[in-house]
Amino acid sequence: MTPFAKAILNWYDAYGRKNLPWQQNKTAYSVWLSEIMLQQTQVATVIPYYERFLKRFPTVIDLANAEQDEVLHLWTGLGYYARARNLHKAAKMVAEQYGGEFPLDIEQMNALPGIGRSTAAAILSSVYKQPHAILDGNVKRTLARCFAVEGWPGQKKVENQLWLHAEEHTPSSDVDKYNQAMMDMGAMVCTRSKPKCSLCPVASLCVSNKQGNPLDYPGKKPKKEKPVKETWFLMLHHDNHIWLEQRPQSGIWGGLFCFPENNDPELEHQLTLRGVTDSDIHQQKQLITFRHTFSHYHLDITPILVELSKQPHMVMEGSKGLWYNLSKPEEIGLAAPVKQLLESLPFELQSEHD
Ligand code: SF4
Repeated sequence: MTPFAKAILNWYDAYGRKNLPWQQNKTAYSVWLSEIMLQQTQVATVIPYYERFLKRFPTVIDLANAEQDEVLHLWTGLGYYARARNLHKAAKMVAEQYGGEFPLDIEQMNALPGIGRSTAAAILSSVYKQPHAILDGNVKRTLARCFAVEGWPGQKKVENQLWLHAEEHTPSSDVDKYNQAMMDMGAMVCTRSKPKCSLCPVASLCVSNKQGNPLDYPGKKPKKEKPVKETWFLMLHHDNHIWLEQRPQSGIWGGLFCFPENNDPELEHQLTLRGVTDSDIHQQKQLITFRHTFSHYHLDITPILVELSKQPHMVMEGSKGLWYNLSKPEEIGLAAPVKQLLESLPFELQSEHD
């Protein structure tokens, strides 16, 4: 075992996290669920989602048998919905191809949707103590600083270098503890903006600490200005119901429910498409534009609230739509800005009637 690994394991015994919900009664299913949820989200946010998921879907078979709408509904608020769609797809594969048991082979595990090399390694090392190295964001940061690995880890050659360090130090015994310790180190000690070097178990081995420049590692992604796009949401409202449509599986908010959308403020075409006539419209009001930011661009959204005098029969081709009951909401997955707008809607409606 390398001195680095020894120091990390000693630290884990004293300070590592051992009481997280997914660390109790571990199964490949429960650890997989937590790993996917934790991919872009912090522990404190994940805990209630994880508990709700496990309660509703106690086994991978239960998850495989669920409707996608329900899975997306339970995921609403966690973001990065491709994770939820892949989670569901992977559950179906485990149920159908592996009889409900996750494969024990890292290549087979890696081939499941949404599971990369590091996640497969995290599951197999945590549950079955298989000696695989992991390399998630926290581990990348710690290793880049400790071994002064230059460059942005999004570049393959930088990532490969980090994998070499990860493999060199991952021990063959206590690998479950070691991998957990490395994740904890990144989350608790070698943190993004304020690393606690004076409390760090590997401070004496850390090159960037000696150089006095931990924050220079890992290298930053080359900056590119995000483009700004615009869109208009058509919020058709009548008698405490609002019209939502399911988006196609591919593209942004795939499979989630959203308001009809248009890329210019001329909404007539969208209304006609759905069979809404002028005489159906009681009044119309433009709400405040707000920004939703994706990883590749900003989206400026202007909602138009259209109060209908009656609930028209909506004409729909190819996609699924529903009159969403604001007092008794259906269990469906909602795009984040849609959820936000639905929450603020009572105030808008109130001000309309004032
Ligand atoms: S000494 Fe500081 S920079 Fe180096 S690994 Fe520890 S916390 Fe990170």
